[in-house]
Amino acid sequence: KRIRNVSQKEENIRCLTLLGHFGFECLPYQLVNRSIQQGFSFNVLCVGETGIGKSTLIDTLFNINFKEHKSSHFYSNVGLRVQTYKLQESNVQLKLTVAETVGYGDQVNKEASYQPIVDYLDAQFEAYLQEELKIKRSYFEYHDSRIHVCLYFISPTGHSLKSLDLLTMKKIDRKVNIVPLIAKADTVSKNDLQKFKSNIMSELAGNGIQIYQFPEDEEPTAQMTSLKEHLPFAVVGSMDEVKVGKRMVRGRQYPWGVLQVENENHCDFVRLRDMLLCTNMEDLKEQTHTQHYERYRCHRLQKMGFTDVGPDNQPISFQEIYEAKRQELYEQCQREEEQLKQKFMQRVKEKETEFKEAEKELQDKFEHLKKVQQEETMKLEEERKQLEAEIIDFYKMKAASESLQAQTCTNTKKD
Ligand code: GDP
Repeated sequence: KRIRNVSQKEENIRCLTLLGHFGFECLPYQLVNRSIQQGFSFNVLCVGETGIGKSTLIDTLFNINFKEHKSSHFYSNVGLRVQTYKLQESNVQLKLTVAETVGYGDQVNKEASYQPIVDYLDAQFEAYLQEELKIKRSYFEYHDSRIHVCLYFISPTGHSLKSLDLLTMKKIDRKVNIVPLIAKADTVSKNDLQKFKSNIMSELAGNGIQIYQFPEDEEPTAQMTSLKEHLPFAVVGSMDEVKVGKRMVRGRQYPWGVLQVENENHCDFVRLRDMLLCTNMEDLKEQTHTQHYERYRCHRLQKMGFTDVGPDNQPISFQEIYEAKRQELYEQCQREEEQLKQKFMQRVKEKETEFKEAEKELQDKFEHLKKVQQEETMKLEEERKQLEAEIIDFYKMKAASESLQAQTCTNTKKD
């Protein structure tokens, strides 16, 4: 058709509008259709003190009721409450997992506050790595629970970050995309908020904390620049509907007026929501996979002894490493077996000597007792003999005295 058109005179060219898509320009539609069929998944981690407004914000962002359990300030240690929701908007399905800290900031020991969060992030990476290393992998059924974004709730002190904020963010910034938020921003005045925001950003930079970087194309879009300028997002959450003029809006009612959650002049809620859901969700997921998970995977595989190059800087294959590791393990087993054998022999020898000594001791004791008993017997025998002699003497004396007595009686009678 095109060839024929070219050969026609220019004034005869008829422009036809396309009714559908043809050729490889359809490729993106295949992706869209497949994604819609599969559904999307998004995992959010909310870190912040108890009562700072985490659940309210998540409820407001996704229009759900996350606030089923009220948090208490009296947990003995920090935990994570994880809930998964299946949400749907028109024909798009979203599997949303929200992990929320419980008891964070209520601990005296700071390490006790951040360690469970670090462990949780690592555990999700480890689960994915184990799935990846399986021979029979089931990526479609597998629920990838790696955290795509960490919403870090900063207390609206209007002053600066707390040491726990810095410590925790430093511990997790290489494991997750951190998006800092000023919670309950309605409690900070407009002027204070600007100062507070710049204080936070300079403190983060000063402490070398890496927060989520918006993707930078060659020409940054106005939207991305505006988002960057508003960091950390000052957010307000509320599920309450308040009447403003003739409209019902999400907001917080105060004696002096209404704070509209979805009004960009009142707070950064809409900026955060647009960033999370409309513009950056895929980038957050990609960063999680290509940066954070990659780092974890590299570290874990190196720890297992895998490497891409040998000591001579030559590429080394997986097979070679495996063989070398197997040989090393075999030798180690042999060494340990030999050591165990030696230890066993040594123990046997020690026990043998112990038994011999004990036997000798017993023998000596026996000999001694035997001797004592013999002496005792001899002594008794002696005494017995002596007694017998005494008895004989006694009887002799008795007989003599009797005969003497009898003689005396006879003499008396004669007289
Ligand atoms: P969580 O323990 O961090 O999940 O905190 P909640 O979401 O349960 O909120 C604790 C209290 O703070 C509730 O009474 C909320 O109504 C209130 N709250 C939540 N978000 C905001 C906010 O943006 N501004 C103000 N002023 N209060 C809020």
